[in-house]
Amino acid sequence: MSVSYWCELAWLGGKAAAAGVVVEVDGQRIAGIEQGIATPPAGATRLDGITVPGLANSHSHAFQRALRGRTHSASGNFSRWREAMYELASRLDPDLYLPLARATYGEMALAGITCVGEFHYLHHGPDGTPYADRNAMGRALIQAAREAGIRITLLDACYLHGGIREKLAGAQRRFGDGDADRWADRIGELQSGDGARIGAAIHSVRAVDPESAAVVAAWAGERDASLHAHVSEQPAENEASRRAYGGTPTAVLANANALGERFTAVHATHLGQPDFRVLGDARVTCCLCPTTERDLADGIAEAERLRAAGTELALGSDSHAVVDILEEARAVELDERLASGERGRNPAAQLLRAATQNGHACLGWPEAGRIEPGAVADLVTLRLDAPRLAGTDRATAVDAVIFAAGAADVRDVVVAGREIVRDGAHVAMDVPAELADAIARVWV
Ligand SMILES: [Zn+2]
Repeated sequence: MSVSYWCELAWLGGKAAAAGVVVEVDGQRIAGIEQGIATPPAGATRLDGITVPGLANSHSHAFQRALRGRTHSASGNFSRWREAMYELASRLDPDLYLPLARATYGEMALAGITCVGEFHYLHHGPDGTPYADRNAMGRALIQAAREAGIRITLLDACYLHGGIREKLAGAQRRFGDGDADRWADRIGELQSGDGARIGAAIHSVRAVDPESAAVVAAWAGERDASLHAHVSEQPAENEASRRAYGGTPTAVLANANALGERFTAVHATHLGQPDFRVLGDARVTCCLCPTTERDLADGIAEAERLRAAGTELALGSDSHAVVDILEEARAVELDERLASGERGRNPAAQLLRAATQNGHACLGWPEAGRIEPGAVADLVTLRLDAPRLAGTDRATAVDAVIFAAGAADVRDVVVAGREIVRDGAHVAMDVPAELADAIARVWV
């Protein structure tokens, strides 16, 4: 079925937005683009405001949405937060996780996110016993995304150790498959489908030994699948890796043949000097999650240096301290300003590309994240008549979107040709009510 949209302004990839853009959509794809059309043609749906491609949330742990507001004021370090996360993890089963993930993905839809990379390690029952369907949790996540109307890449994470050469303990027992071959055997039962793709993850060098990391990397390589890993989020992780393996997490992953264009290093906050070159030469993507990294006091990634080395940047809301990819985008630049004393290291168009095209590519959807003929028809329209963007000039509209707009400005969202958010509301869900209900059930 063919439909057309008329966008008052649209970002087509350059520094400035284009005016009067007609987007022809045929089924799930964009069939054609015309610019400079002053008034909506007959039959076209009018999209006042500025329309950008679908935003990709490249790093999500959906269940952590239930921690929002419950941990931020706690003093102490990362391990205190992790204890709260483990307590939450110990409470979930597929029947609780489905509505929690569905509501969380609904919040993402309202924020203009059209694809989520779900870094999934909450696999088994509380003591590590698999559910009757060993992928019950993963299938719940795929169903949740479908019901919320967004695409998902399920990055099923191999997670074998509580620390280097340590056994899984407590809530961590739910995460483990025993060994990498059993991990591969389990996720072999999952299939990609319409709106859902299967990728792999190495949880971290802390939780996956080098030999097992090589098994996961080979699995992804054989299937041309996305491969993600947490890399150097904390200095302690680097020290443990150096002590045990004589190299940084990046070096260990390079030796395991994990790096390459399908690989995404999540965080990449505390890299060693040679790591920049190793990651850049391998053309990996680095997924930064600044709102989580600042909430957990992790540190600030050197985004400009990562880009200069040859990596691509993507963005994720990770723990969902907030779900707002535009906030993640501006934080990349603004946090680096605070650390460096310099402005303008990461131009707005680069950050918007990280939020759209690069994110989709690192999740295995290279056909999405751009408004151009042949691309997946994702359209996210932000209102220009709300306080944050009122008075925006077309020439600097991309800067205004990146440095001032947020999830609350998203008015209409089209995912692969289907309207899922209209006038700021989800077409099929009462998202705030579902969030409140799902989170209350978890904490009963
Ligand atoms: Zn994470």
